[in-house]
Amino acid sequence: MVRVIMLSPPGAGKGTHSRWLTQQTGAAHISSGDLLRAEVARGSGLGRQVAAYTARGDLVPDELIFSILVPAVVAAARDTGGYVLDGFPRTMPQALRAAELGLELDLTSDAVIYLSAPEEELVRRLLDRARRDGRADDTLGVIRHRLAVFARETAPLVEYYRGRGILLKLSTDRPEADVRADLRDWLQARGLKPSGAGGIPDVPRRTSAGNAAGD
Ligand code: ADP
Repeated sequence: MVRVIMLSPPGAGKGTHSRWLTQQTGAAHISSGDLLRAEVARGSGLGRQVAAYTARGDLVPDELIFSILVPAVVAAARDTGGYVLDGFPRTMPQALRAAELGLELDLTSDAVIYLSAPEEELVRRLLDRARRDGRADDTLGVIRHRLAVFARETAPLVEYYRGRGILLKLSTDRPEADVRADLRDWLQARGLKPSGAGGIPDVPRRTSAGNAAGD
């Protein structure tokens, strides 16, 4: 079973590739953004606190994140034996505490997949998604702010996980099928097989295709 962290700036495809990994492996998909948006939609007191941050593109304080994420990860790992963490951890304090909790709860991550694409491509995809889905934080100003927050708070995690020897960097500025093929090869090379029999199915490589934002 896989225990994977997806690390990526907004628009690089972490939602799309997390969903694919989840389908292929049976591990639970845990999206911090989806969990936070669900809390906001419920209109709870916690949801109102969360919305104050997400609407501006600022990070939600670590305490709130851990109170929402930890029970979800523990339940997912119990139910499926694995997880694909989409959007968490996102700051060095989150990463360090997640590593401690991982050891304590025997839920350590096997791999961190870092998805990257040029900034203007990220902006283009997110504006595209805004036209499709109308997410409240997909306006140009908030998108630019989220990218700056990523560069300041989240990008340092790349070196941290590289140092731990579990980082895979993938460019997503190319057809989605090619990214998937690399992901599949890498998981198989590390002996991380899907839960079902037969291994991860082959993904045909394509020579050209669009690559919409799916996160
Ligand atoms: P994106 O990657 O496109 O910004 P997400 O759905 O992952 O989209 O996150 C949306 C928002 O939710 C973020 O801008 C931030 O406000 C909040 N958020 C998500 N994950 C975290 C996290 N781990 N820590 C703090 N805030 C988070």
